[in-house]
Amino acid sequence: MLSGFAGGVHPPENKNTDECAIEVMPMPKRVYIPFSQHTGKPARPLVKKGDDVKIGMKIGEADGFISAAVHASISGKVVDIVDHAHPVIGSALCCIIEASDSEDWVKEVSAARDLGSLTGKQLIDAVKEAGIVGLGGAAFPSHVKLSPPKEKHIDTLIINGCECEPVLTADHRLMVEHAATVIEGARIFQKILDVPNLIFGIEDNKKDAIGLFKQEEVRVAALKTKYPQGAEKQLIKAILKREVPRGGLPMDVGCVVHNVGTCHAALMAVKFGKPLIDRVVTVAGDGVKENRNVLVRIGTPVNSVIDFCGGYTTQPEKVILGGPMMGIAQYSDAVPVIKGTSGILVWSGVRAVEEGPCVRCAACVDACPMGLMPTEICSFVKNKNIDMANAYGVLDCIECGCCAYVCPAAIPLVHYFKYGKSEIWRKSKT
Ligand code: SF4
Ligand code: SF4
Repeated sequence: MLSGFAGGVHPPENKNTDECAIEVMPMPKRVYIPFSQHTGKPARPLVKKGDDVKIGMKIGEADGFISAAVHASISGKVVDIVDHAHPVIGSALCCIIEASDSEDWVKEVSAARDLGSLTGKQLIDAVKEAGIVGLGGAAFPSHVKLSPPKEKHIDTLIINGCECEPVLTADHRLMVEHAATVIEGARIFQKILDVPNLIFGIEDNKKDAIGLFKQEEVRVAALKTKYPQGAEKQLIKAILKREVPRGGLPMDVGCVVHNVGTCHAALMAVKFGKPLIDRVVTVAGDGVKENRNVLVRIGTPVNSVIDFCGGYTTQPEKVILGGPMMGIAQYSDAVPVIKGTSGILVWSGVRAVEEGPCVRCAACVDACPMGLMPTEICSFVKNKNIDMANAYGVLDCIECGCCAYVCPAAIPLVHYFKYGKSEIWRKSKT
């Protein structure tokens, strides 16, 4: 058993959907597909109001180096291209498609192709064309991550199967139900990167997945269950004992990290020509009748997914997209599921807690997996001393929420850090 990393917390897991097999939600009547659902520049629209589209048709072209293509997730008619509610950035340009009676796919989605003859370049192009992004939450375009600069010597590809966020089980179910596909996808990434080492990092609360992967004779690192074990830098530290330098990236220590869901999506793209038009989402919480894992088309409104899961138990008090630690609370359930949506959490009994004064207990310092001093950074941000917040490393904060989780004064530390970061970026542009 490999040891973990410094800091971190052990929130109650409550993964009550870990035995819930993935269910396929039928084609929704309407989808709202944002052109911006990845890190980087929004895709450039390729369709206009009135156009007929088929499932898998490219409706948005990657616009720049860090950008990703976007595809129709249902067949039907484009009824509008307008700004609509977005779960991460508030509002964004969306392609609204109304479903036709039939499910028509583009002809490129086909029977399995022989991948053996494809070069690394052809594989990477297929990943790019399919709009594959990191499905762990960050939604960074995968083809960019698969193209590290030549001077970086990558020796290890780590596949992230930790799913350390409490409540979420979407990646767990994918590993249990589609182990072979995930592994085949990982081998494609290994071929593209031309690396000797391939390691799957899985938390030890998923013994069934660990067992299955070991049977497939791949190298598995069983990791201590601790949040945020699935954060890239913590994962690398735990598996390889390598420290990603401040402000650095995994490739600076010879690594590339991809999520298990990304491997699965990439395999579907290169082998069957299927673009990223759906993803597995964990639907959970006391505010929704049936807690499930659901394969949802990108662009499906959250309220339609809730309806598919039996509806709300009562008036919801909080709807979060993502996990309980890093997810984003929503002001509307009309927001669509996007490529980075790993969970839909609905809570009915949430009490608002008032922020108190810092009692200097240092619990946040002990919990921070990045070795930061959250209490000091918070006080700099509150006093608008952004330069000092920067000097104390606010930009290294991975927004994991461990500090806020342990804070007895209920100080929403991550909110202050997000504000501090945005102020640094704003100042750098002026
Ligand atoms: S300061 Fe940032 S990295 Fe450290 S615990 Fe808080 S949220 Fe996580
Ligand atoms: S955990 Fe909260 S109260 Fe304790 S030092 Fe950190 S900010 Fe202050």
